[in-house]
Amino acid sequence: MVREYRITLLPGDGIGPEIMAVTVQVLKAIAPTHDLQFHFSEVPIGGAAIDATGNPLPPETLDDCRQSDAVLLAAIGGYKWDNSPRSQRPETGLLGLRSGLELFANLRPATILPQLIDASSLKREVVEGVDIMVVRELTGGVYFGQPKGIFETETGEKRGVNTMAYSEGEIDRIAKVGFEIACKRGKKLCSVDKANVLDVSQLWRDRVVQISAEYSDVELSHLYVDNAAMQLVRAPKQFDTILTGNLFGDILSDAAAMLTGSIGMLPSASLGADKPGVFEPVHGSAPDIAGQDKANPLAQVLSAAMMLRYGLDEPEAATQIEKAVMAVLDQGYRTGDIMSPNMKAVGCQGMGEVLLKALG
Ligand code: NAD
Repeated sequence: MVREYRITLLPGDGIGPEIMAVTVQVLKAIAPTHDLQFHFSEVPIGGAAIDATGNPLPPETLDDCRQSDAVLLAAIGGYKWDNSPRSQRPETGLLGLRSGLELFANLRPATILPQLIDASSLKREVVEGVDIMVVRELTGGVYFGQPKGIFETETGEKRGVNTMAYSEGEIDRIAKVGFEIACKRGKKLCSVDKANVLDVSQLWRDRVVQISAEYSDVELSHLYVDNAAMQLVRAPKQFDTILTGNLFGDILSDAAAMLTGSIGMLPSASLGADKPGVFEPVHGSAPDIAGQDKANPLAQVLSAAMMLRYGLDEPEAATQIEKAVMAVLDQGYRTGDIMSPNMKAVGCQGMGEVLLKALG
């Protein structure tokens, strides 16, 4: 039986429409093989939405996303809106989307592709085979805890305050995502905290241990964040899935991503409780190369694969896309950002064409 999915496309700004076009072609190409039917709707966000409606996240856009099974986002932003007031900035649309869909879990894979191993700043033997997923809590912790602000003390001295707070419920729901993701991967979960110093981390650790009882086939370990940072650059292959809070995850996910060395290759996913997830590349709208057919569409294409695997539970379709990406890299095709000597230069559209051929 054909499984039907409603997908909201948010091409956004800069290179967004170019990389989205390639990705939609790929999704259409794989659909029949897996008995899938996609119903796409395309709506504006970011600068494109400001130009069209005066609002970086028009209510119609958020409504469309809420009615979908998954949201595929490219990127937002550009020079044109850099000096606009906060409410008229593309980034405001992105933050509104995240809160509007209650996206509390951020998934950032860092996978070393053998074809691009020399793009890493670390030694080949250290990074070869690295395949890490960082699961970061996105809507709690020190970025949102109260009280926060800059206050004046009795002596007139200013004092900056942020509060790192997590409730049991917040920890439990992100821990469950972490365990679920680990189940779909190597069944190893490393929870990162600072329980030797922070009470909030002690509660984090206690809850993660409690939740682990529901996932007896996942091997759970714990690291303090300072040690985790060291281990990531010393011996990254020891990690499979990392579970951590908002602040530690912000830093560790960027560090893990940079093990791979190539921003045009990195996808991400943000998941909510009962609303659709948002799947997007880690990179921005690259206004410096927009409209020149120079963009690497592979992070966007791999974001669609994440959408299939983690948003729609269609792992076979995801695998077909990931294999095609590996195949075109094996064949030597490279966009400018990942070019190296003796490889075949292609533009964004050209990469799309060879991908379609690789899909068969
Ligand atoms: P960027 O990621 O857009 O670009 C950084 C560099 O990487 C540029 O030289 C760019 O050409 C290159 N690059 C990025 N993606 C590429 C790709 N797919 N193929 C080839 N080269 C690629 O970051 P930036 O320059 O700091 O920001 C540009 C705009 O993007 C800003 O307006 C920023 O606010 C926005 N931004 C948006 C998001 C998002 O939509 N989630 C994330 C980061 C930045």
